[in-house]
Amino acid sequence: MFYRSTRNKIKRITASEAILKGISEDGGLFVPESIPALDISFEKIAEMDYRETALFVMGKYFTDFTEEELGNCIEKAYDSKFDIPDMVSLRRTDGRTAYLELFHGRTIAFKDMALSILPHLMKQAAKKQNMREEIVILTATSGDTGKAALAGFSDVSGIKIAVFFPEGGVSPVQKLQMVTEKGKNTFVAGVRGNFDDCQTGVKKMFTDEALKEKLKGAGYVFSSANSINIGRLIPQIVYYIFAYSRLLKEGAIRPGEEINIVVPTGNFGNILAAYYAKNMGLPVHRLICASNENKVLYDFFNTGKYDRNREFILTHSPSMDILISSNLERLIYVLTGDDPERTAALMASLMGEGKYEITEEMRDKLKCFSGYFASEEETFNKIRSLYEETGYVIDTHTAVAGCALDKYRADTSDDSFAVVASTASPFKFAGSVLSAIKGRKEEKEETELFSMLSEISGVGIPEAVRELKDAPVFHKTVCEIDEMEETVLGFLNIKGE
Ligand SMILES: *Cc1c(COP(=O)(O)O)cnc(C)c1O
Repeated sequence: MFYRSTRNKIKRITASEAILKGISEDGGLFVPESIPALDISFEKIAEMDYRETALFVMGKYFTDFTEEELGNCIEKAYDSKFDIPDMVSLRRTDGRTAYLELFHGRTIAFKDMALSILPHLMKQAAKKQNMREEIVILTATSGDTGKAALAGFSDVSGIKIAVFFPEGGVSPVQKLQMVTEKGKNTFVAGVRGNFDDCQTGVKKMFTDEALKEKLKGAGYVFSSANSINIGRLIPQIVYYIFAYSRLLKEGAIRPGEEINIVVPTGNFGNILAAYYAKNMGLPVHRLICASNENKVLYDFFNTGKYDRNREFILTHSPSMDILISSNLERLIYVLTGDDPERTAALMASLMGEGKYEITEEMRDKLKCFSGYFASEEETFNKIRSLYEETGYVIDTHTAVAGCALDKYRADTSDDSFAVVASTASPFKFAGSVLSAIKGRKEEKEETELFSMLSEISGVGIPEAVRELKDAPVFHKTVCEIDEMEETVLGFLNIKGE
């Protein structure tokens, strides 16, 4: 299996090269040349545990890894860091709906599913490519990605990681999660600026040739762990296939029965993985793309027009507050019939005018998607009503998806069995979740909120938030926007000018 850029016809690279590069030099994203078929029955998959399923699915994409190499990566990633033996779990709330909990990893959000394995894939890939330099991962974060990346790369030998976050722009819990990170190879710095400043600063370092040379001289090379890396996308396919096999085993669905999958969406990575799973042979009827009030994708699916020229709204589902869904480019590429020139032209229009429109013919291929969105009020109502009806507590992101499913069912009377991707533990957003359930804001200390939520939900306080209480702060660096490069050089003990 080879990979191509969505914006370049000629080049063809291996999985390990694509994982190391992250993004193509032409600005495109790497895509597998073809989508491999599952070619095995779900009854067989139902006999596998999560790790075996992961090996089977990822083995079809990462073909330049030997089974042993990939198996090693999987063993290291999916272990007791997760608080349940199968990594993910299904919670059925009625006869036709199951919430797929993807938040049982170290940072209690679904990004752990991919970020716990990416470092090991990267390390193995570097070995394969005979890379001599040590990898330095640079990440800008608005909150969730930072800690998940730190946790994943923590103490992985041969790799260092530097995370930049907006000093005043993340929640207290998110900040505490990052600055208390223990890994000896980790560096964290607050930036006196907003998330865009952090992201721009990081992008600048990635493309700075002089800096690249300086790093190389010291034995380092930059790489990226963000969600467009194919090494993050492919591991996300696994849990959809695994979930289907479990539903089958439990008798919730019949063999071959088509299900709907609902995904709370931001950068379009998680739902794209579900789309790949469908194309591999997973019986999926509809993929329901759920947006919050930043409903660019809802508009896209309903009109064929993508337009980011609009107000950026801060919601209670911050990980979905996004106006440029990077991974959508991979879907656009499929819609053009794998045409890199047309894809590049549409993306150029997005960069230039902030918008583009797809043709009727392209829209025809979008029929397996439905776009829905939930307002802030609808999201809170969903958290409360689900809790009142079933006793089950979900986080704000998951509630956006739950609400999208309700709207879809009301519109279409399609009552297919639905799997809702549950992307964060409610403890990660305890304040919002409690406000939703109680109908008023709780003015309390975080630790008290955790206890309240634990009592209401009947779920113990996760280690990820419990450990924050008395954790020592290891990272105290704060820098100005124009000092980010100096800060990285300082971390690596490389002298500046
Ligand atoms: C990142 C994130 C999302 C969005 O996932 P994408 O793959 O970017 O669409 C949804 N919910 C939570 C909790 C997240 O952290």
